[in-house]
Amino acid sequence: MSVRVTGTEIRERLAVVRENIDRALERSGRSEEEVRVLVATKYYAPEQLSALAEAGAGLVGENRAEDLIEKQELFGDRFDWHFIGHLQRRKAKVVVPRVTLVHSVDSMRLIEELGKRAPEAGTDILIQVNVADEESKYGVSEEEVEALLETAAETGGRVRARGFMTLAPLVDDPEEVRHVFAKLRTIRDRLRKSWSPHFDLSELSMGMSGDYEVAVEEGATVVRIGRMLIEEDGPVRRQDGS
Ligand SMILES: *Cc1c(COP(=O)(O)O)cnc(C)c1O
Repeated sequence: MSVRVTGTEIRERLAVVRENIDRALERSGRSEEEVRVLVATKYYAPEQLSALAEAGAGLVGENRAEDLIEKQELFGDRFDWHFIGHLQRRKAKVVVPRVTLVHSVDSMRLIEELGKRAPEAGTDILIQVNVADEESKYGVSEEEVEALLETAAETGGRVRARGFMTLAPLVDDPEEVRHVFAKLRTIRDRLRKSWSPHFDLSELSMGMSGDYEVAVEEGATVVRIGRMLIEEDGPVRRQDGS
C-alpha cells in the first residue's frame, strides 16, 4: 500500500478517531481516562512520514527493525517511537535503545535478551497475549503470562512490564471480537493486583482501524491505527452516524 493522502487529510482522520475514542470512553464510563493513539507506520515509505508529521501525529509504531532505523534517520526527533511488530532476539539490541515501549514481547528468552541490551535506565515492555488462541498469531497464552512476568522481575528493573497487548482476529463486525478485548482486560485486572509491588500493569494496547472503538469500550489505553488514516475511501465513521 502506498500513501496517497495528504497531511491535512490525515489530520482530519485523526480528529475523527479522537472524537470516536472520546465517545467510546463516555459510553463505557471512562471519560476521565486517556487513550493514546499510536499510528502504525508500516504502510509509509520513510519520506512519507512527513505527512504524519504535518498531521500532528505524536506517537508512531514500527513493525520492522530495519524500517525503524531508516525512518528514525529522517524523523527520529519528530515522534515518540514504539515497536509493535514481532521482535527477533537478534534484533533486540538495535531496537531497544530506539523506542520507549515494545508492545510485542512474547517469550522468556526475548525478555532475557532485552534485559542484557536495555540501557541503564531500563526498558518498558508489554506482553503480547494471543487471547483468541489463533495459530497464525504471535503472543503467549494466558497460562504463560506469569512466567514472563517472573522473567522480567528477575532482570532487576532492566525490563519493566507495563501491561499487555493483543491482536484480535480480523472480522467484519467488531462486536465479534469484543470478548477478546474483555478477556485481555480481565487478565490485566487479575495480575495487576498481585504484581503491583513489582510492576504497574496499567497499559492495554488493543484495537486497530476496524475495532478500536470496541477496544476502547473494553479498556484500551493505547490503540494502534494504520489503514483508516490512508485508505482512499476516507475515514470509517460509525455506522449509526453518531
Ligand atoms: C499494522 C498494524 C496495526 C494497524 O492495523 P490497521 O488495521 O492497519 O489499523 C496495529 N497493530 C499492529 C501490530 C500492526 O502490525
